[in-house]
Amino acid sequence: MLLSLARMNRVRAIDAANLTMTVDAGCVLQAVQQAAAAQGLLFPLSLAAEGSCTIGGNLAANAGGTQVLRFGNARELCLGLEVVTAAGDIWDGLTGLRKDNTGYDLRDLFIGSEGTLGIITGAVLKLYPQPRAKCTALAACASVDDAVALLQLAQARCGSLLTGFELMGEFALALVRRHFPQLAQPLPPSPWCVLLELSDGESEVHARSLFEGLLEAALEQGLISDAAVAETLAQSHAMWHLRESIPLAQAEEGLNVKHDIALPVSRIPEFVASTDAALQAAFPGARLVDFGHLGDGNLHYNVQAPEGIEAAEFLRTHEAAINEMVYAAVVERGGSISAEHGIGELKREKLVHVKSPVAMALMGSIKRALDPQNLMNPGRVL
Ligand code: ZN
Repeated sequence: MLLSLARMNRVRAIDAANLTMTVDAGCVLQAVQQAAAAQGLLFPLSLAAEGSCTIGGNLAANAGGTQVLRFGNARELCLGLEVVTAAGDIWDGLTGLRKDNTGYDLRDLFIGSEGTLGIITGAVLKLYPQPRAKCTALAACASVDDAVALLQLAQARCGSLLTGFELMGEFALALVRRHFPQLAQPLPPSPWCVLLELSDGESEVHARSLFEGLLEAALEQGLISDAAVAETLAQSHAMWHLRESIPLAQAEEGLNVKHDIALPVSRIPEFVASTDAALQAAFPGARLVDFGHLGDGNLHYNVQAPEGIEAAEFLRTHEAAINEMVYAAVVERGGSISAEHGIGELKREKLVHVKSPVAMALMGSIKRALDPQNLMNPGRVL
């Protein structure tokens, strides 16, 4: 059974002084962003599907996206919830409080539960002031090591003004060139490309001078070989469009094995180098589409079939083995096999292999206590 809350799409209230907004769960994410912007405020959750996904779904899945580095996941952007429980009660937890230590945190139980504990029908969301200026740049790096060093430098120099830090491997961008040749790629090909974004409460001039200082220092330290700063809003959008076109270009290229993994940022360079090499040794010609939210330690680490090989056949034969290799490498390094996409049905079997028996038992107890008849999204997560 599918449940649609699409008709529950009202913005119930905006409290500008409290920097909160109360919404129905069926509000489309973009509509939430626009309602905040209309008051001069920002709701920072941002992801490729924002024109169609709903805020209730974002919260149930604890969505991530491109602003997590500065503002956190959906979980960090929610202060209160309204939930229909499995018993048919309505839990009104629509508080706009930033401090509330009165017992167990029910809100955080439902967020990220993928609909398995109850149905989110409303939420109180956190808002922020709209930045005065946004500035975007692309930088060319020779290695993931350099990209991580650039991240550290950017965080040290720009602090919380750094709102985006996306990594794109050359093969990922080559796929975009092949399938979307109309999209401008401002930098010549290099092994890795980083998209940086600053959001500045002061001015465009301030953001730009910060960027120039950062990129000059990075050039001097040999962390980047080239950089392009967007001069206009259109150029900035074009840079983001490049990044967002990678999954679409991958789909055009054919079926692929997808991974949504998280690792400590410090371990990503070595993970990428050794896992890329191991996959290429085990599956000669396999093409690695490495990209993602490096600032959050979240990679979309995908494997495309070798050129000229039928993708469906390649996946049928090798997908399970590829998954096993990638997930083993992730777990070995203290990572997660699902950073922002959740467990759902697809990864349910894998959960018991990566969670401790204690964690599985605690999750089972919570599920049985809140949904003893297993009515809520059965077959997902557990
Ligand atoms: Zn993502």
